[in-house]
Amino acid sequence: MRILVTGGAGFIGSHLIDRLMAQEHEVICLDNFYTGHKRNILKWFDHPYFELIRHDITEPIKLEVDQVYHLACPASPVHYQYNPIKTVKTNVMGTMNMLGLAKRVKARFLIASTSEVYGDPDVHPQTEEYRGNVNPIGIRSCYDEGKRIAETLTFDYHRENNVDIRVARIFNTYGPRMLENDGRVVSNFVVQALRGVPLTVYGDGSQTRSFCYVSDLVEGLMRLMNGEHTGPINLGNPDEYTILELAQKIQQMVNPDAEIKYEPLPQDDPRQRQPDITKAKTWLGWQPTIPLQEGLNLTIDDFRARVNISQPSAVS
Ligand code: NAD
Ligand code: UDP
Repeated sequence: MRILVTGGAGFIGSHLIDRLMAQEHEVICLDNFYTGHKRNILKWFDHPYFELIRHDITEPIKLEVDQVYHLACPASPVHYQYNPIKTVKTNVMGTMNMLGLAKRVKARFLIASTSEVYGDPDVHPQTEEYRGNVNPIGIRSCYDEGKRIAETLTFDYHRENNVDIRVARIFNTYGPRMLENDGRVVSNFVVQALRGVPLTVYGDGSQTRSFCYVSDLVEGLMRLMNGEHTGPINLGNPDEYTILELAQKIQQMVNPDAEIKYEPLPQDDPRQRQPDITKAKTWLGWQPTIPLQEGLNLTIDDFRARVNISQPSAVS
């Protein structure tokens, strides 16, 4: 098949492309390199089945493909809040452009939505039926509400134009190739511990997250794309940790001498998050296989190989 991956030079997108190329599909990677990097897809540059297009999805583009994995959107709060209006444009205009493309060529369209559509959840763990608790005017709204309207658009293109859709609600995912200045919690803690600077726990660290290793997530995305269910389907690892537990775990694994310091909790930071993955198990036969310890080891090895350990000021 010919498969378009928007955001293919990013963290999840590049791992997905590795799997699609290994299956001998033709892959087109579309990216504006806002948070993505050529080095993530460098190994495919000379491959005859691989094509890279530098393009911003807020502008229309015409391509002939069989499937679209629509991942283009900054995922870290630091990056999506840097230019929130652009984040909204990417989610609204960008998603509309990609849905228009899928409609024109009758491609199956999978959108990478997020657990953030549940906001700061009152229901725990979160099932797909839960409609969420999102602040529409807060600093996370450009992303949360952006993804909610992206889901709305996806279902309206399905109902109005028969676009064949798949909606994945992805929970916190980590692994090799995260940016060292990404700002997300796993990469921050690992890079801080490697540099021997204090690990920055926001708030008292009692808020929870559930962390999914990237290879598990990519397997879930591919099963969803090639299965029969539109979703939305939660994809994530139900093993839940407090942020303080995560900091202590990484501290022990990388550098027991590194300190932990407490910083203010960002506005609207969700207190708890854990996916209910009953649907993914039943419909896709999918569940995560990589425990946190193993996934962290692989992630730490990757950061150790590429992070400049003598730059303590870059992550705080
Ligand atoms: P990432 O920032 O590494 O990747 C996003 C990619 O999209 C980057 O390569 C970036 O350059 C590209 N991009 C951004 N705006 C673009 C635009 N306007 N035009 C073209 N390309 C653009 O993030 P990621 O962690 O790989 O996330 C990928 C997708 O998965 C995102 O849609 C994100 O919302 C979703 N998601 C990720 C997580 C997670 O924990 N990683 C959780 C929930 C949802
Ligand atoms: N966090 C933290 N220290 C950091 C980065 C993040 O304590 O250096 C916290 C953050 O406040 C949140 C959790 O870790 O409660 C997960 O943050 P992340 O940005 O990774 O993802 P999200 O909040 O989008 O789930």
